[in-house]
Amino acid sequence: MDSAIFRFHDELNFFLPRRQQNLSIEHEFSWRASIKDMIESLGVPHTEIGLLVVNGESICFDYIVKGGDRVEVYPRFDAPNGTGPQIRLRPPYPGRPRFILDQHLGRLAAYLRMLGFDTLYRNNYHDEELAQVSHDETRILLTRDVGLLKRSLVIYGYYVRSIHRQRQLEEIAARYDLLRLTEPFKHCMKCNGLLEKVTKDAIRPRVPDGTAEHYDEFHRCQSCERVYWKGAHYQRMQELLDQVMRGR
Ligand SMILES: [Zn+2]
Repeated sequence: MDSAIFRFHDELNFFLPRRQQNLSIEHEFSWRASIKDMIESLGVPHTEIGLLVVNGESICFDYIVKGGDRVEVYPRFDAPNGTGPQIRLRPPYPGRPRFILDQHLGRLAAYLRMLGFDTLYRNNYHDEELAQVSHDETRILLTRDVGLLKRSLVIYGYYVRSIHRQRQLEEIAARYDLLRLTEPFKHCMKCNGLLEKVTKDAIRPRVPDGTAEHYDEFHRCQSCERVYWKGAHYQRMQELLDQVMRGR
């Protein structure tokens, strides 16, 4: 039987049993395993990890753990000082964040769309599908299922800690720096379709009486034809944004 010492830093402790949090964990093993598999057997999904340091050297997920290794696991790539060249575990996320959400996060999906982020959500995606689409379309997988984030196919993913809808949005906004990227009236809250600007006459039969007289700008979803304007919906979004900003 060999053993290695694991130390998880900062918010990664969230995934450990209470008795192991913020401590050096001696982990015994008698099989050959990659550091990814061993860390995930301790409870932390690979998508949450930004940097791995073994015996003072930055290494990748396929490193095979040896007896006597001292493993430091950091949530962010730029964590510690003085460890020499640091190896990125995954390329930086390219471009504007795009998401795919599991079935428990319908309200969060609507919020993200409302703020202008391309967000896939269905209440009947299978786990395989979520992982595959996240991989194929380079989408960030947001989920309340830790097991899903342990799949190797998932490159970009995040475990949503809170069960409170607005807290969830605050978490995601902080993690992916979304507030500087918001674009209202870009995606349909209902179906994620792209919105287009339309004239008053085009929407008059589709909106409540008086709406066309009170507002000047209207947008319509190119997929489901739902109409949006700067009324109650827009005010709700502004209030939500204000609250999210205050929560930071
Ligand atoms: Zn739509």
